Amino acid sequence: MSAGAAEFDAFPRRGGVLHAERVALEQIAAEVGTPTYVYSAGALRERYRALDAAFSGRATICYALKANMNLAVVRTLVALGAGADVTSGGELFRALRAGADPSRIVYSGVGKTDAEIDAALDAGIRAFNVESRAELRRIDARAGARSRRAPIAFRVNPDVDPETHPYISTGLRTSKFGIPIDEAVDAYAEAKTLQNVRVVGVDCHIGSQLTRVEPFSDALARVRALVSELRGAGHAIELIDVGGGLGVQYTNETPPSPEAYARAVLAAVGDLDAELVVEPGRWITANAGVLLARVLYEKDNEAKRFVVVDAAMNDLIRPALYDSEMRIEPVGSATGAPRQVDVVGPVCESSDFLARDRALAPLAPGALLAVRSAGAYGFAMSSNYNARRRAAEVLVEGDRFAVVRERETLEDLVRGESIPREITG
Ligand SMILES: *Cc1c(COP(=O)(O)O)cnc(C)c1O
Repeated sequence: MSAGAAEFDAFPRRGGVLHAERVALEQIAAEVGTPTYVYSAGALRERYRALDAAFSGRATICYALKANMNLAVVRTLVALGAGADVTSGGELFRALRAGADPSRIVYSGVGKTDAEIDAALDAGIRAFNVESRAELRRIDARAGARSRRAPIAFRVNPDVDPETHPYISTGLRTSKFGIPIDEAVDAYAEAKTLQNVRVVGVDCHIGSQLTRVEPFSDALARVRALVSELRGAGHAIELIDVGGGLGVQYTNETPPSPEAYARAVLAAVGDLDAELVVEPGRWITANAGVLLARVLYEKDNEAKRFVVVDAAMNDLIRPALYDSEMRIEPVGSATGAPRQVDVVGPVCESSDFLARDRALAPLAPGALLAVRSAGAYGFAMSSNYNARRRAAEVLVEGDRFAVVRERETLEDLVRGESIPREITG
């Protein structure tokens, strides 16, 4: 946060008990059960406003739904003026259902189906971020069939190392994303020959959880040069989409402030007389959410002590997938000397852990834990693995809270399945 500005504490400890704003997490666990994701509306708003202010209102903030697609979360941001970055027809559906203005929706993603392209054309989105020339031709054909003109920006790949986890690096030459920036001029030239697309801009997204501004600056310097070249070739570049990727603090990271990030973006492309689009996901939602879980029991193997909780890798896959470290706190006051433990779930996989070798005070069965910074890529990446019902989601505002997604039921687990007797016997 900017120097001097007191950051809104969405999850304060009051009387020794962790709260979401003014609601005790114990109360939510008692009424809604566990595991449950809890989001702070105040924190969502504060993050959105801080980024908007850092850009002095000079950027269109298209919130990346992929980080947290809950309708109430998206609505909270849309109500502040956010647009949306969507990566599938499903996310487009959610963005529209949450009330996003189609003229503030951009659509990224390397594999758009005809049905998805059609839905985006019918909605009238701001831009397709096109990731290949094959996709360009596909969009042109679909737009022609529907007598529409599709607004397009190529997602260019600047070959910059974002210095983040390989699975969330997207701007290297070897990644599947975008078109190599060296081929962009040719690709735009082809777009100009097509009847049913209209070039509106350039797009670039190099990765997620970036903790330094330099990769953004390097990538955007290349985008800047490209924009000049494209304009020289007669393309009307009215929009520059700089992607998302600003990192957050999970444990000891020191990501750039939104001000430093905005300064870098504006320094690189702020004077190009184009609408700037940013696509933040994680930065808006990660620290606005926690995952609430209950301790089932502790167990000791010869070499290790485990705290077994009722949340698992199907609920929160980041530790298993990215080796992410996420803070875990007891919700109530925990006494006793901390010991090194692994916090694990019930799923039948050794990768099912929420934390490894973490110092935690002894916890009685039934004690509550909060996994911090779980508002992004938490519920959104959850699954039904091991036939586990997906968690509930709760949104808190001051001293009120609402269940914004019900915990799945056992019947939900088998919805759509059938047993064809003529085959199964
Ligand atoms: C994932 C993604 C984002 C959001 O990334 P964050 O790191 O969550 O900000 C933005 N744009 C595109 C194209 C993405 O794939």
